[in-house]
Amino acid sequence: MAITDRVYVKNARRLSSRMDRNMPRNVFSGAALDILYSTDEIEKLDAGTRDALLEFVTDFMDCDHDNAPYCGCPERKFVRHLIELRREGMSPSRIVEALEAEYGLYAYEGDVLDFLDTSVRSLEAIEEVADTLAEYETRDEARRLRDDIVGSRQ
Ligand SMILES: [Zn+2]
Repeated sequence: MAITDRVYVKNARRLSSRMDRNMPRNVFSGAALDILYSTDEIEKLDAGTRDALLEFVTDFMDCDHDNAPYCGCPERKFVRHLIELRREGMSPSRIVEALEAEYGLYAYEGDVLDFLDTSVRSLEAIEEVADTLAEYETRDEARRLRDDIVGSRQ
């Protein structure tokens, strides 16, 4: 399962009771993205929760695609953000804390760790294929990124 299937809205049930919509637990489920995209329902929430979710909308849902928010951009941007946090040297538990503080989301440390491990393995595969094809720039970039993810593991 992708990491984006394992990122959750904090207190989804309480939020649902404040809105006229049912907020699903998984923030990347279609219905949740739908609620966030229109933002009307979010306005009914307390300031802290509202601001955190609007931060999510600003950071990950700001594209102009016709099929937004189902275009894949939110997922792609979020995954990139996780990698960036990791490259800044954050441990999985610090990443979990950052997601909660910034966006009012929660995830499990083990799931973040799995995601990072999977990313490392994918990059290794890219390195090998790129090397075989003599695509050395791609190979070196994959290696750098992999070193960043592995290197600062705490
Ligand atoms: Zn998009």
